[in-house]
Amino acid sequence: MSQSQQTIEPWLRGILRCPQCKGELVDVPAEAGAAAATEELRCDVCHLAYPVEGGVPVLLVDLARRTDG
Ligand SMILES: [Zn+2]
Repeated sequence: MSQSQQTIEPWLRGILRCPQCKGELVDVPAEAGAAAATEELRCDVCHLAYPVEGGVPVLLVDLARRTDG
């Protein structure tokens, strides 16, 4: 079995909130062909995308990618 696509534990995903606005996060699967092979958790309020490394979400504003250009 491949272990390349680890997903977030359901119990953990259920309690995840944006650390900045406490809003809900949107799952963004890794894009096919994209350089970053990780999925992200996006906050459309803050326009930030938090990386998920090995199934572990990194909910730190400092490490988030801005999505508003
Ligand atoms: Zn937010």
